[in-house]
Amino acid sequence: MSREEYESVIGLEVHAELSTKTKIFCSCPTKFGASPNTQTCPICMAMPGTLPVLNEKVVEYAVKAGLATNCTISKDSKNDRKNYYYPDLPKSYQISQYDKPLCENGYIEIDTKNGKKKIRILRIHIEEDAGKLNHDDFGGGSLVDLNRAGVPLIEIVSEPDISSSEEAEAYLRKLKAILEYIEVSDCKMQEGSYRADVNVSVKKKTDEKLGTRTEMKNMNSFRSITRGIDYEIDRQIDLLEDGKQVEQQSLRWDDVSGKTFSMRDKEDAQDYRYFPDPDLVAIRLSNEYVENIRKNLPELPEKRRERYLNEYKMTEKETDIIVSSKYLSDLFEEAADICKNRKAVSNWIISDISRILNEKELEPADIPFTAEQLAHLVMIIDKGTISSSIGKKVLEELFENPREPEDIVKEKGWVQISDEGEIKKIVAEILANNQQSVSDYKAGKDKALGFLVGQAMKATKGKANPQLLNKLFIEELKK
Ligand code: ADP
Ligand code: ZN
Ligand code: MG
Repeated sequence: MSREEYESVIGLEVHAELSTKTKIFCSCPTKFGASPNTQTCPICMAMPGTLPVLNEKVVEYAVKAGLATNCTISKDSKNDRKNYYYPDLPKSYQISQYDKPLCENGYIEIDTKNGKKKIRILRIHIEEDAGKLNHDDFGGGSLVDLNRAGVPLIEIVSEPDISSSEEAEAYLRKLKAILEYIEVSDCKMQEGSYRADVNVSVKKKTDEKLGTRTEMKNMNSFRSITRGIDYEIDRQIDLLEDGKQVEQQSLRWDDVSGKTFSMRDKEDAQDYRYFPDPDLVAIRLSNEYVENIRKNLPELPEKRRERYLNEYKMTEKETDIIVSSKYLSDLFEEAADICKNRKAVSNWIISDISRILNEKELEPADIPFTAEQLAHLVMIIDKGTISSSIGKKVLEELFENPREPEDIVKEKGWVQISDEGEIKKIVAEILANNQQSVSDYKAGKDKALGFLVGQAMKATKGKANPQLLNKLFIEELKK
């Protein structure tokens, strides 16, 4: 049989940490990066006799996420205990939701190479995060950090509607953008606040029944996820082609070897002995409560995309880059409002800012300068104070040590030379030193002009006004 006879089926369980100030069942802070065990209390350390109290913001944020992904909100839900032992889980159960999740039956739409596709969302439930084990640097032992224990999570479970690694990436990016837009999670993948369990199976196209799935746990980069999916699809097809079977397993993806490794046989729901948490009351929501959240939902990426395309007449390419991140999109709108030059702001974002973010491996949220500073950069270029090539150097400075672009330019002596007399002198000098290009130009080789302008720019370290340079070169060459 050939590989073309198989198709792959993927379902994703996304965990997003909610950006509430305090944890889900106690008032400890949730800030990332604090020293180990400094954000803990008897409740999240699971001392006997303590009682959890549900943080209402968690419900509000989860409902927001449900509404933004077209889910039905359950007016009657509850918390359940999911029982298992692990050293980062001192209660030996995780408070989660089992048969009555807060949100059900939603979907989001993604763009695929065959057009738009709906990916259904089975459920979104709230739960607490576990602590963290530190295995490194302790002479063979492991240490437990409970700062993360009790940080609120939503788990967003998709139906197995995803057919390839590209679709999985599109889904994860879209969902991430939505959560950022509604401001319920900062979705910082390197910090683990947006991570996914990735379920993969394959089956023959002619088969109705889905194949046996494997599950890669806790993946937090787009690259590992797409590589992991492609690897699993290949591995599973190979097994079936060899007449073997895929085992239902939890796997660990290893980035270095580019392979998956078995962690354990996959547990089933009955293994967890779920039961309603007797320490917590049921969660009852009024219509009014839900409708009020619906009314106050901010503009979602899809709407913003339409606005950019229809009202701003932006291209699809620039729109998609900017709208993909709320941070970029807000930066764009604020800066454009100030400098009144939307096109220039968009160009900076999709070219140089995106390039630098890539080089420095930063997320848009880590951009250190303000929208006002970006707007001022555009304005001093529009005014002719600096050329756009100097503008690039100012942008690099804004990333290094953000301050007023005008101050940077003064400090560095980058003000543009727009004095006609001064530029004439430079033009004369360049012409005198490049006789060959002068003859080339006169012989009809227009390219020679570009070379001459480039030489003049080099000589002035990019400070000469390029329009003026062009004009004066042509005047001289026509003589
Ligand atoms: P568990 O927590 O046991 O993994 P869940 O119901 O929370 O179970 O999640 C199951 C996930 O696996 C869902 O995202 C679902 O779409 C996906 N899934 C279920 N069956 C398959 C399958 N045969 N192939 C790929 N994905 C699957
Ligand atoms: Zn606590
Ligand atoms: Mg799972």
